[in-house]
Amino acid sequence: MSGGTVWFVGAGPGDPELITVKGRALIERAGAILFAGSLVSEAAMRWAPAGCVIADSKDMTLEQMSAWLIIQAGRCQTVVRLQTGDPGLYGALIELVQPLDAAGVPIAVVPGVSSAMASAATAVESLTLPEVTQTVIFTRVEGRTPMPEGESLEALAAHHSTLCIFLSITLMGRVAAALTAAGWSPDAPVVVVHKASWPGEEKIIRGTVATIQGLCRDAKIVSQSMVIASPTLGARHWQTLAKSKLYDASFTHKFRRASTGLTTSTSQNLPETT
Ligand code: SAH
Repeated sequence: MSGGTVWFVGAGPGDPELITVKGRALIERAGAILFAGSLVSEAAMRWAPAGCVIADSKDMTLEQMSAWLIIQAGRCQTVVRLQTGDPGLYGALIELVQPLDAAGVPIAVVPGVSSAMASAATAVESLTLPEVTQTVIFTRVEGRTPMPEGESLEALAAHHSTLCIFLSITLMGRVAAALTAAGWSPDAPVVVVHKASWPGEEKIIRGTVATIQGLCRDAKIVSQSMVIASPTLGARHWQTLAKSKLYDASFTHKFRRASTGLTTSTSQNLPETT
């Protein structure tokens, strides 16, 4: 039985500087790295030590990947499975963890910056806004992977909260149809971010439910894109905005007393709320 641990590390959305400090430290001491070739920027490999065995998983089956990881864990202390964004989102994490569990190989997961967060950052959008929406849904439209009961995009869009839609750039017609069927206006804003955070390669396409498919087609964007549909989009330019209660002078929370009436400061027993 091996003494090595397999670390599932979120590499972040593309910019090599968006890996966590912990993820980078693991790469720096890795004896073997299996990376997700199609999406993880090879630049993330720049911290691998000399002699580290590095393989691209893009042509491997899940069985081949788990077999590779088990073999490497038998010969080195630190094995890294480097995945795009966060490993817990559309990353086949559990399919790979189960065979390692069965083989008695210890595993651990290091989170990463998801492309949903990187896309919002690139576009300078907030996924939540007071009195607009306080909810974010991470989803996709149905492709080869069927959607579970109750999770059609139309059903989720009926909440009129923020939708971060993964894996769907080639299905924009379906996205627009689902939003329309759920009652979103043809003028409702939609933003598509292509290669969010990739130095020199990111593109932001701003449109509406009615126009976004054509705009993406014209821009020839067919992969590596996040679709964000949200009533918060464009808020940077709004004239009126409900302010977050967190920074309201009359609002008391865990770290600060309201400025009216109370002068003593204690953080105990105050609600942790915003
Ligand atoms: N675990 C990843 C998602 C993997 S699924 C994460 O947390 O981001 C792959 C999908 O993620 C792509 O189809 C695309 O929708 C999105 N994606 C990945 N990298 C991206 C990037 N740099 N910019 C925009 N979307 C990206």
